[in-house]
Amino acid sequence: MKIPEHGMISLRARHRMVQEQLETQGIQDPRVLAAMREIHRHLFVEEALASRAYSDENLPIGAGQTLSQPLTVARMTQALRLTGNEECLEIGTGSGYQTAILARLCRKVYTIERLTGLADASRKRLRLLGLHNIVCRQGDGSLGWPEERPFDRILVTAGTPVTPENLIRQLGPNGILVAPEGSKNAQNLIRVTRQEDGSIRKETLDPCCFVPLIGAQGWQNEAP
Ligand code: SAM
Repeated sequence: MKIPEHGMISLRARHRMVQEQLETQGIQDPRVLAAMREIHRHLFVEEALASRAYSDENLPIGAGQTLSQPLTVARMTQALRLTGNEECLEIGTGSGYQTAILARLCRKVYTIERLTGLADASRKRLRLLGLHNIVCRQGDGSLGWPEERPFDRILVTAGTPVTPENLIRQLGPNGILVAPEGSKNAQNLIRVTRQEDGSIRKETLDPCCFVPLIGAQGWQNEAP
């Protein structure tokens, strides 16, 4: 895999993306805005799609999966309230773009992708980019990563009918989980927070639309 040179065009495009698509839409966390200015989104899609990498749209990443539009990535990341010291579990590595953003904003990222082709490609890409605080695994993320629990943050980037109990169980004290929950065609972003006393608080954030989480604690098959 070849990582093309980073040019001024991409720098301007990233700054414009942040200014026009994120700052105007309620993204205010300066660390999230800085990470999205810094990470080169065009390196996470096929070369033929690079010219669309900074536009306000989802992009195909192969195997029927998508890289979410920048605003969705920013909303989910902001909802996690990262301070920089967290261990984070991400379900649905896909291209690795969201993983790279998380890696800039927390101490360590564990990420799981179900599809072997995407898991291999994103692992290689993240290594070439020199992001060393990421551990990648291929498998069913709906079960979480029990050996590494508890996590300070959990981000699910595929739609689930109900947020997997396994994932909620792997959330540490004061931990926050963000996931798209709903039907196969439309979900709401939800935030689950583990309170001081161990109880769970659930909030509904923005409407969203993700590809399905396929797994033991997600959807059972890919049929619509
Ligand atoms: N965040 C990714 C990015 O930045 O490119 C995009 C994620 S894409 C919307 C959802 C991903 O979740 C797909 O790559 C899909 O294969 C993966 N997925 C679906 N079910 C999964 C599961 N049970 N465990 C892990 N990954 C899963």
